[in-house]
Amino acid sequence: MSTVLILADFVGEKASKSTVEIATAGAVIGEVTALVLAPVGKGAARAATLVHGPIAKAIVVESDDFDKHGVPATADALAQVITKMQPAAVLVVSHAFGKEVAGRVAMKVQSGIITDAVAIAADCTTTQLVFGGSTTVHSKISHGVSIITVRPNTVTADFVTCSPAIETLPLSIAEKSKLATITSSQPPVKGGRPELTEANIVVSGGRGTNGDFTAVENFADSLGAAVGASRAATDAGWYPHSHQVGQTGKTVSPTLYVACGISGAIQHRAGMQTSKTIVVINKDPEAPLFELADFGVVGDLFAVLPPATEGVKARKP
Ligand SMILES: Cc1cc2nc3c(=O)[nH]c(=O)nc-3n(C[C@H](O)[C@H](O)[C@H](O)COP(=O)(O)OP(=O)(O)OC[C@H]3O[C@@H](n4cnc5c(N)ncnc54)[C@H](O)[C@@H]3O)c2cc1C
Repeated sequence: MSTVLILADFVGEKASKSTVEIATAGAVIGEVTALVLAPVGKGAARAATLVHGPIAKAIVVESDDFDKHGVPATADALAQVITKMQPAAVLVVSHAFGKEVAGRVAMKVQSGIITDAVAIAADCTTTQLVFGGSTTVHSKISHGVSIITVRPNTVTADFVTCSPAIETLPLSIAEKSKLATITSSQPPVKGGRPELTEANIVVSGGRGTNGDFTAVENFADSLGAAVGASRAATDAGWYPHSHQVGQTGKTVSPTLYVACGISGAIQHRAGMQTSKTIVVINKDPEAPLFELADFGVVGDLFAVLPPATEGVKARKP
């Protein structure tokens, strides 16, 4: 049976939902081995959080170089493991860090690379959505190991319980991968809301908020949702760019997406169109996003959201 190597992704010290997603995508190709990179002394604890997804085995590599030297050290370790294992495919989460790592690894092992896949077939043929989601492309790597980055929230994660066999692998990171050192880094300030790309429910605001996100945030909080924003709202400085949903922002695929005062430009749709249920609140009945909506409310968001918020709160036990 072919082996698929995934680079396990962590939020803090815990395996992320994206790890389960890439494991699910990988299991279609072969047996999944997760590579867990961690600072010295933290590998076993991180590997112990691999409890969901079709993961058969975990390889733990401990080195303080990963935190100190970031992408180059990570790519160095991943390339060494690929050379040792010769997997059929290597899957990495398609965030900025993952794509940078995958690109370097492809150079190191002289393989082709495909980024932003949204689906992978058993023969490693990938599906990508390009031009803001308007065109679907199928492609396959023709040289070397298939190195593929997978967009978060596009593969339905299989949360099957797992308890992978753990192997510790001693590796040393080459001096040339340590030429830049991270002197300090600040984790993003976390509010009480769930992470946008991991959230089950996302409530987003656009230009229609006119810069006042209070009603959007209150509604999000009543549902335990994350808050998203259109680029019009982030460009205007009304909401942080880290919350932007769309082609140049984040891709979300929650169970419920509520768009408030967002017209539905193709670039916004690209980041949310795979949401399971889409609710649109817009005062313009001709707003293009209504075409995607499962439920639509034609109305002023400042009139619709407060009673909706109260309604949700009233129904809570
Ligand atoms: C290369 C490129 C990349 C881009 N990437 C992204 C991206 O990642 N994400 C993104 O979102 N956009 C992106 N854009 C921008 C995109 O084209 C749109 O300009 C943007 O999405 C519009 O945001 P909006 O819907 O909030 O604003 P608008 O298009 O101005 O729509 C505002 C809507 O609010 C409604 N409205 C107004 N007041 C109210 C009210 N009180 N109650 C209810 N409804 C109200 C209006 O009827 C209107 O439909 C990109 C553009 C380019 C060229």
